Amino acid sequence: MGQELFRLKAHEIRGAIRRGETTATEVTQSVLGRIGAVEGKVQAYTEIWGDYAQQRAADIDRRIKAGEDPGPLAGVPIGLKDNYCTTEGTTGCCSKILKGFRSPYNGTVVEKLLDAGAVFLGKLNMDEFAMGSSTENSSVQKTRNPWNLRCVPGGSSGGAAAGIAAHEAAVTMGSDTGGSIRQPAALCGCLGLKPTYGRVSRYGLVAFASSLDQIGPFTKDAEDMALIMGVIAGRDPRDSTSADIPVPDYSKALRDDIKGLRIGLPKECFTDALGAEMREKILAAVEVLKAQGAQVVEVSLPHTEYAIAVYYIICTAEASANLARFDGVRYGYRHPDAKSVEDMYRLSKSHGYGPEVQRRIMLGTYVLSSGYYDAYYLKAQKVRALIKKDFEDAFQSCDIIATPTTPTPAFEFGAKTDDPLEMYLSDIYTSSINLAGIPGMSIPCGLTASKLPAGLQLLGKPFDEETLIRVAYAYEKHSGWERADAPIT
Ligand code: GLN
Repeated sequence: MGQELFRLKAHEIRGAIRRGETTATEVTQSVLGRIGAVEGKVQAYTEIWGDYAQQRAADIDRRIKAGEDPGPLAGVPIGLKDNYCTTEGTTGCCSKILKGFRSPYNGTVVEKLLDAGAVFLGKLNMDEFAMGSSTENSSVQKTRNPWNLRCVPGGSSGGAAAGIAAHEAAVTMGSDTGGSIRQPAALCGCLGLKPTYGRVSRYGLVAFASSLDQIGPFTKDAEDMALIMGVIAGRDPRDSTSADIPVPDYSKALRDDIKGLRIGLPKECFTDALGAEMREKILAAVEVLKAQGAQVVEVSLPHTEYAIAVYYIICTAEASANLARFDGVRYGYRHPDAKSVEDMYRLSKSHGYGPEVQRRIMLGTYVLSSGYYDAYYLKAQKVRALIKKDFEDAFQSCDIIATPTTPTPAFEFGAKTDDPLEMYLSDIYTSSINLAGIPGMSIPCGLTASKLPAGLQLLGKPFDEETLIRVAYAYEKHSGWERADAPIT
């Protein structure tokens, strides 16, 4: 095969290896070569497991030669966000407080991918503890957007999105609490899926906000999305919030047929908050689907205007509880000058966490404190129920909902770091989906005049990832624009 194996999609790699046209070793070497060539500019990875990946690929090739079937992802090179617990390398969540932490176990999704034959390449940059929308909150490095190196890749899974856009992996894995898969996927021009809450096990994902977090893939096309979902979805006895609902054969969704499909367009998403150019891109993408026989209906999500406020009460409350465990006692950073236990907590936390994580812990502690609990946390839970109901009502008249993924394309470094609220508004179209627990996928829908990707967000009924994949597949077939490579300049 040609020299540019790193450009291949996961299903192409799988096919080529099965047909004996290439080997896991050749693919891995090609991707590692690509990482070597572009990482200086992109900086998607915080750890690159070169030797490990080559050994793993050699092992897979040996098993194929011996006539074994090493699984549906045999030889597919995959990168993991730094909040996935792995026994290989470290699991630092890009925080100083967990720097160098070695997990004693692999998370369930990591195990499933390994059992399927994946070759892990290393760990990907992220906002510290997944809190952020630009990856600028990483304590490790800045990841740059391969479409324009002056711009952020989005966040918090910025390394995962940039890594795919720069062909530094065939698939990357991220997590999404309020938009952290879909928003960076949109900004980097790749596909990103947040599955239904409970569709994929969270065991071994370092918790940020447990009622909102979900694991999901970044891919180069819809077929790869079906392939990865088939491997990672399903009930896990080690995650009691994972759902005992049968996993469909997602490859059946790969049929070019959306005739009669009803697409809901929420009127609240097409206000002035959305720039004219983004609106045009989204509506043009919807036209492509209409031309294939889909129908468009207007829907209303009246309570989603409160989504950002509700999200930042609930996620900070849960974060303040989840992050209590990083206290300098059992693992992670301990400040060397502590003279008492209280000192140790205070110094370790104030030196170990960056400013955004500290802000979230303080906000979360405040909204849970007695006297404020009813006014903030309890009220937010009530509004969350209304937001969920909005989606249930809207899905009475449509099969999927289409919205922009983000109000604007990628922004420049530093543009929003001085104003946390501005940064929080990057998730205006994504956070309500986590509050409702439904699945959402961002798919690339062209480039703006300044050559930055735009993302169309597709939302589905609970556990109906299949329809999202089906629509993404139809869009890919008919959108008529060849997806160019990011220039990395
Ligand atoms: N940007 C949002 C936040 O900062 C969402 C993050 C995420 O989904 N992990 O909380």
